[in-house]
Amino acid sequence: MTTCDDLPTLLFLGQPLDDETTAHLAACRRCAAAAADARTVAARMAAAAPPEPPPTLTARVLHAATPVLAHRARRAVWMPLARAIAVALLPFPAIVVLDAYLLRGLYGLLTTVLPETLSFYLVLNYAGLLALVAALTYGTIPLLAAHQARLRHEVAHV
Ligand SMILES: [Zn+2]
Repeated sequence: MTTCDDLPTLLFLGQPLDDETTAHLAACRRCAAAAADARTVAARMAAAAPPEPPPTLTARVLHAATPVLAHRARRAVWMPLARAIAVALLPFPAIVVLDAYLLRGLYGLLTTVLPETLSFYLVLNYAGLLALVAALTYGTIPLLAAHQARLRHEVAHV
């Protein structure tokens, strides 16, 4: 149900009127006057030239938006990087456990043919090699992710 307070708003906004509202408009003097005022205001606003924006508006808007744009740009670079690192770290505990089992088995196998001290030395060296390979592999992930983000940024701006 449209009230006398709602009808001027509908008219001013140019909303279509249903049958009930049209009947109310025809019967109510207050709404008829408001409709005439709304039509007058709408006609004057349509005839008026739009205001010219101040010449410094563009510069001011860009200045105001600079921190937000910079934040979004940084986020656009860091989010894929953080995602890539998170995905790469996901299997890391399983790799460590697997390597521990491998080293333990290797030590057991070596002690059957070699002295314990030498077996321990060999397994320790192999563990160091595995740690180095893992460090190098995981060290390249941020570099690769940053490279991919840079490529994506270049493709987007070509
Ligand atoms: Zn009314």
